[in-house]
Amino acid sequence: MEDVKNLKKIDIHVHATAFPDYFPTSKPGDPNTRIVSAEQLIQMYDALGIEQGVLLPLSSPEAQVSPVTSEACKYMADKYPDRLFWFCNVDPRAVADMAESNLARVIEHYKALGAKGVGEVIAHMYLDDPKVDNLFSACEKCDMPVILHLTHRMTRGYGLYDDFGLPRLEKALQKHPDLKILGHSQLFWAALSGDLKEEERGGNPKGPVTEGGRVVELLRKYPNLYCDLSAGSGANAMTRDPDFTERFIEEFSDRLMYGTDIVYTTNEHPFLFRDFLESMLDQGRISPENYRKLVRDNAIRILKL
Ligand SMILES: [Zn+2]
Repeated sequence: MEDVKNLKKIDIHVHATAFPDYFPTSKPGDPNTRIVSAEQLIQMYDALGIEQGVLLPLSSPEAQVSPVTSEACKYMADKYPDRLFWFCNVDPRAVADMAESNLARVIEHYKALGAKGVGEVIAHMYLDDPKVDNLFSACEKCDMPVILHLTHRMTRGYGLYDDFGLPRLEKALQKHPDLKILGHSQLFWAALSGDLKEEERGGNPKGPVTEGGRVVELLRKYPNLYCDLSAGSGANAMTRDPDFTERFIEEFSDRLMYGTDIVYTTNEHPFLFRDFLESMLDQGRISPENYRKLVRDNAIRILKL
């Protein structure tokens, strides 16, 4: 049997700042709430057995104290070419805040510089807003995968809004069959279970996953939907019901990608998730082939790393 436990992982979703000396903390006076530097990130990667990660810019203003630009991500990736790749990020309102803006021109520019995809999209807008759809068309035209952060409310927060049952996401999957959409965040992962309650759809529901969940339905129906397993939300979805996870990984082994969504040095979920995946491997509940796909090979194939 192939020994994959020591296989180095690829993280498709991570954040860092190129300017750790200047970047503001999220909580006043608490250095633990400053986004990690590339150097701190690489230290964490060594502890987690991660060879390479994909830096995601945070270009919309809603999710953090200061934006992280595409240029900063390229700068860090150039500094550590053996460890870091990067996505570009283009706010749907960029250029002129209209649905007709030529965003493909901007994405092409970054793609030529080495960007591997677009996102994560954190703009606080409706998922089917014409400007968001314009961004999706541009990503599709440029053959660039896109990571979406979905949200359940418009009153505060960040990310693309969708209703219960993810109808707006389904519209995008239908309308853009050649666009690889990577689902992420609490709203996406809470919809894994068929018994999801309205009041839990923006959180990390626990307990057994029942059949009929929207994420499973959409994955079966749309081959252009992929799963970003990063963050507490991805880890919660995979760890809440190992019996379900075993079947889920077997069925969708070609469309799941490991990620951390590390932002701070104090993030603990990547360590817990690593331990969970390794224990599933030890118990024979994930095959070595599927483990390899999930922590590494799918990212290389889908993101063309
Ligand atoms: Zn993120």
